[in-house]
Amino acid sequence: MNTTVYLIKPGELTLKGGNRKGFENLLRRNLSSMLKGLGVRISGTSGRFYLSCPLGTEGQAESALNRLIGIAGWAKTRICEKNTEALVRACEEEGRCLFEKGVRTFKIEARRTDKSFPLDSYGIRCAAGEAVGKGVPGLKVDVQKPEGIINVEIREKAYVYGNAQQGLKGLPVGSAGRGLLLLSGGIDSPVAGFLMACRGLRLDAVYFHAYPYTSDEARKKTVKLAEIIGSYSLGICLFVVNFTPLQIRIRERSPEPWRTVLLRMAMMECADKLARLRGDKCLVSGESLSQVASQTIENISCTQSRVSLPVLRPLIGLDKDDIIRMAERIGTYETSILPYEDCCVLFSPQHPVLRGDPAEAGKLYEALEAGPLIDEALRTRETVKCGFPQIRQAGQPKP
Ligand code: ATP
Ligand code: MG
Repeated sequence: MNTTVYLIKPGELTLKGGNRKGFENLLRRNLSSMLKGLGVRISGTSGRFYLSCPLGTEGQAESALNRLIGIAGWAKTRICEKNTEALVRACEEEGRCLFEKGVRTFKIEARRTDKSFPLDSYGIRCAAGEAVGKGVPGLKVDVQKPEGIINVEIREKAYVYGNAQQGLKGLPVGSAGRGLLLLSGGIDSPVAGFLMACRGLRLDAVYFHAYPYTSDEARKKTVKLAEIIGSYSLGICLFVVNFTPLQIRIRERSPEPWRTVLLRMAMMECADKLARLRGDKCLVSGESLSQVASQTIENISCTQSRVSLPVLRPLIGLDKDDIIRMAERIGTYETSILPYEDCCVLFSPQHPVLRGDPAEAGKLYEALEAGPLIDEALRTRETVKCGFPQIRQAGQPKP
C-alpha cells in the first residue's frame, strides 16, 4: 500500500443533530485546505473520517491533525480484510509496535457496526487479545489499567489502531462565523483568540501600535503571534492600526489617571467600526477580571460603553497561571514574553483610575473628539495576512 491512513474522530459536532452534515463538511474542507497540494484524500461517514496521504507526507499530515480544531482524536490506522485471521494478524502487528514503544500491558477495544462480521465485539476482544498475548512475548493483557489500547473497528472496512492522539476538540473553524480579535503582543489575547477559534470563530485581528514610539520589533512580534494562532484557525487577516495621534490627543486633553481607560475606549470604538467594515460578528478580547487596573468591572463597563457588537472575553474568569499554561501549550508564550513595549505603556499613568465612573468616562471621552482620529487611523491601516494555509509539496516542513 502506498498511502498511510489516519482515522479521525470528530469532536462535539457529533451532537449537532440536523446540522451535523454541514459541520462535517466544513471540518473536511478545513483539513483539506491545511494539506493542500499533498494529494491527500478524505473519506468517511457516520462519525468517522479517514485521511489517506501519500507515503512521505506523514509529518505534514500529523502536524495538521494536531492543529485541526473540531476533532476529539486521531490515530494512524491499519486497514485489513474483513476476516478474523487478517484482523488478528493486524492486531498482533499493532501490539508489536506498542511493545517497541515501551508498552507492556494492553487491552483490546472493539466496535462492530457491520453486524455481518462473524465475531461480535466480545468475540473480537477474546480472539485478538489471545493472539496478541501469544504473538508478542512480554506484552500482557490488563483490562483494568492497560498502558496501551489496541482498537478494532469493523465498519465498511476493518480498522486497527493503537493509542489515539488527543485532538483539540471544539467546533470547526468558521462554523460560528467570524470575529475580530484585539491582539496585543501580550500573553492573554492570543490565548483568547485560540479559545474562540475552538468555538468555531474564524478570526480577523487588530493590533494598535504607537509607531514610532513603539518599535518595529513590537509589530513583528504581534505578526508572529497572529501567524501562530492563524496556523490553527486557517489564517488571520491582521490589521495594524497606528494610534499615535490618538494617544497624543489623550495626553493633551485628559487627566493623567484616566489615560489608560480612555485609550481602551478608543480601541474598542475603533475595533467596533473595523469589525462592521469587515462583516465580523463580534469582538474578542483577552481581558480577565481584575487582572490589572484597566480590567476592574467598572473599567470594563467604561470600555464596553463604546461598543455595540458583543465582546467575547473567554479569559474573564481564568487565573493567570492557567492562561500561561495554555499559552505554552499552543506555542505563543515564548513570543509573548519577548520584551517589546506595547502602546498601552506609552504615556501610561503612575496611578491609573481603578473604578472609573462610566458617566465621567463618557464626558472625558467626548472631549477628545476622537471620531476623526479613529477614522484616519482606520483609513491608513496596514493589512498583514498571517498563517494562511499554503500549497505544500511532500517533504516540505510546515512553517
Ligand atoms: P494581553 O496579555 O493580551 O496584552 P493584558 O493582560 O496586557 O493582556 P491589557 O493590556 O489590559 O491586558 O489588555 C486587555 C486586552 O485589550 C488585551 O487582552 C487585548 O485584547 C486588548 N489590547 C490591549 N492592548 C492592545 C493593543 N495594543 N492592540 C490590540 N488590542 C489590545
Ligand atoms: Mg497588554
